[in-house]
Amino acid sequence: MIENRDAGRTPVTVLGLGLMGQALAGAFLRDGYPTTVWNRSAGKAEGLVAEGATLAGSVREAVAGGRLVVVCVSDYQAVRELLDPVGDVLDGRVLVNLTSGTSAQAREVGEWAAQRGLSYLDGAIMAVPAGIGTADATLVYSGPRTAFDLHESVLRSLAAGTGEASEPGGTSGTGGTGGVSGTIHLGDDPGLSALYEVAVLSLMWNILNGFLQGAAMLETAGVGAATFASLAEQAIGTVAGWLPGYAQQIDDGAYPALDSTIDTHVGAMEHLVQESESLGVNAEFPRLIKALADRAVAGGRGGDGYAALIEQFRKPSEARP
Ligand code: NAP
Repeated sequence: MIENRDAGRTPVTVLGLGLMGQALAGAFLRDGYPTTVWNRSAGKAEGLVAEGATLAGSVREAVAGGRLVVVCVSDYQAVRELLDPVGDVLDGRVLVNLTSGTSAQAREVGEWAAQRGLSYLDGAIMAVPAGIGTADATLVYSGPRTAFDLHESVLRSLAAGTGEASEPGGTSGTGGTGGVSGTIHLGDDPGLSALYEVAVLSLMWNILNGFLQGAAMLETAGVGAATFASLAEQAIGTVAGWLPGYAQQIDDGAYPALDSTIDTHVGAMEHLVQESESLGVNAEFPRLIKALADRAVAGGRGGDGYAALIEQFRKPSEARP
């Protein structure tokens, strides 16, 4: 790892002072980094300037003010509009893009940077603005490891997690599944951060949708969502405990049924569909769950464990909803 001798003093620039950009700049300021900020529209820098930030009059001036340049705006189109004209000033600096987007967009900016000899890290923020700078935040980065190493200590201001940067699948961090928390370099491919971000969002939405489906069904019997929440929380914890075993099966490509078979799951899924339909609540999600499992059974996987359903997720969808 390259020692960052400027730790505590590296000048940082933050482009984009929306809800997230303000939180990022605030975290750098709190840790004592000289911070230059810029935003398209006026007014959003006032609080940060009061905390000691320098407000730049242009993107060019802002970029010139930092060794580490962080951009966090609405989308990649805005990123390109901002950065295309200032490629020359970015030379010799490390650009970290924390704007959400797709892996293809991230790789495109990575290519743009590589063609100009610029150091580019794409990143994804797995936190809300209030979590930035606390142990609740996880930020992942992808792109050249040397660029990450150079400013790792500065980037750690944004996620006070383990205090140790870790590799996914490594041993440091929160648990046996890889300890992914805090400040993480995922690999050299700049598209990895965006992929992890959507993978985690997919997980989050599936869990939340499952909770909402259950809450809607229980509501028909007069059970409030708050009553369901404590049992739901416990169930989520139980499922989380299954992940290492299922992950191993997926990586090994063998899915022995250690607890119950997909055939058994399909029987219970049928109850979920019937219950939803007869209660008059939305049955789309239950039907989709069962349709995927039915396909696995049709493909000869009925006697396997649940992880065999990975094969259904690997394929393009048969029909768009
Ligand atoms: P936001 O509050 O809506 O702020 C958007 C920012 O982008 C503003 O500074 C806006 O400038 C700027 N912007 C938009 N188009 C621009 C353009 N063409 N040129 C220059 N600046 C432009 O959004 P946010 O919550 O800060 O989110 C920023 C990014 O962080 C998004 O990609 C989001 O997905 C990601 N993110 C957010 C959260 C969260 O909880 N908020 C969590 C994870 C990731 P103006 O002020 O001039 O409009």
